[in-house]
Amino acid sequence: MPQAGSSANPFETAKQQVDIVANLLGLDAGMREMLKHPKRELSVNFPVRMDDGALRVFSGYRVQYNMARGPCKGGIRYHPQVSLDEVRALAAWMTWKCAVVNIPYGGAKGGVICDPKNMSKGELERLTRRFASEISPIIGPEMDIPAPDVYTDGQTMSWIMDTYSMQKGYSVPGVVTGKPIALGGSEGRGEATGRGCAYTIREAAKDAGVRVKGGTVAVQGFGDAGSVAANLLHDEQGAVIVAASDSKGGVYKADGFNPHALEEYKAKHGSVVGFPGAKAISNEDLLELKVDILVPAALENVITGKNADKIQAKLIGEAANGPTLPEADTILFQKKITVLPDILANAGGVTVSYFEWPQDIQGYFWPLEEVNSRLERVMVRSYADVHKVATEKRVHNRTAAYVLAIQRVVDAIKTRGIYP
Ligand code: NAD
Repeated sequence: MPQAGSSANPFETAKQQVDIVANLLGLDAGMREMLKHPKRELSVNFPVRMDDGALRVFSGYRVQYNMARGPCKGGIRYHPQVSLDEVRALAAWMTWKCAVVNIPYGGAKGGVICDPKNMSKGELERLTRRFASEISPIIGPEMDIPAPDVYTDGQTMSWIMDTYSMQKGYSVPGVVTGKPIALGGSEGRGEATGRGCAYTIREAAKDAGVRVKGGTVAVQGFGDAGSVAANLLHDEQGAVIVAASDSKGGVYKADGFNPHALEEYKAKHGSVVGFPGAKAISNEDLLELKVDILVPAALENVITGKNADKIQAKLIGEAANGPTLPEADTILFQKKITVLPDILANAGGVTVSYFEWPQDIQGYFWPLEEVNSRLERVMVRSYADVHKVATEKRVHNRTAAYVLAIQRVVDAIKTRGIYP
């Protein structure tokens, strides 16, 4: 994926993050090297018959970054800009995300270089089935469990599950998560990222003295994650949603709007732009609004060294992956703005993916209330863990989350005797 404000190689960034935390934890050179190398990488080139009869060869990757804490977990992305280094970085971040919420997974990621917007459903199915077959030697419920990511969805996961099951000769629903309910998906998965984000915002607001009930909220990116976070902050916590945006622009209403009505409007008109009674606002200006809570839920690298000083929100809950650049983190910390980092704030999605896996393996499914209450427990506990480290070490929450995650991975590596 293109990095929205920066052309940095994401894997170089991921390695720098490891170095920063390794210094804080006093890790030796050997352990640093281990943490900066993916354990296993598979590159595949495979043919797909296109609708016009031509044969095209596609390239794809599956990177298993670290499995010291359990089977690998991570999405599969279809995008023209997929690269091996991007997949490596995403696999590293999945490792830390699973560790920060303390679910028993390592991290992985996959991707295929393709342009899904210009492919038919039949072409996507043939591509998915061939890719699944190519990576099947290294995936499985006990080894590596893929999930949806950019431009893949429940249908993609269903094709992978079916292809893998055909090879085995029996149904293996636990090979992927993010499946439709009919095929062993979990209740609550669709809402999980936004719901987890709303729970962490609630907890952090208490510590930071930020008002949620009656407090104002701006959401950049009113998609799956952002709209659910807005709905729940509004419905369950009494927040006032004053601004929201999507790729076409944003809307602002000082006394707030009903996010459900905005969702319906977006579903009907394809954008939040033009929502009755609201003023137009640009995506850039939305970030700088004087609100209590800001939820970036769209792209990478939107809070940078250039605009961090202009951010007026008191609390930022990162529903998106990578919205804040490192130089911005320092500025936000100096301004005493509380940031809930992506590997914590959007980990509700992978947490309910994790819930899907034992449900599939046991063939025993939980009701929605049970999924949500277990998710709440995980998010509340994880926020408390991160806050404790941040307070003790006097660092910002992102560094604290990385310290916690990397320490947990290091403990697993050492306890297993992988590294003496
Ligand atoms: P989505 O496609 O449902 O929503 C993304 C929204 O962002 C859309 O409304 C889109 O119009 C908007 N957008 C795109 N470009 C924009 C721009 N330049 N400015 C403002 N808005 C823009 O995707 P999603 O699943 O909600 O994912 C959003 C973010 O959350 C991504 O960073 C993703 O990696 C992260 N995330 C999602 C999940 C999940 O379970 N959905 C889990 C973890 C992290």
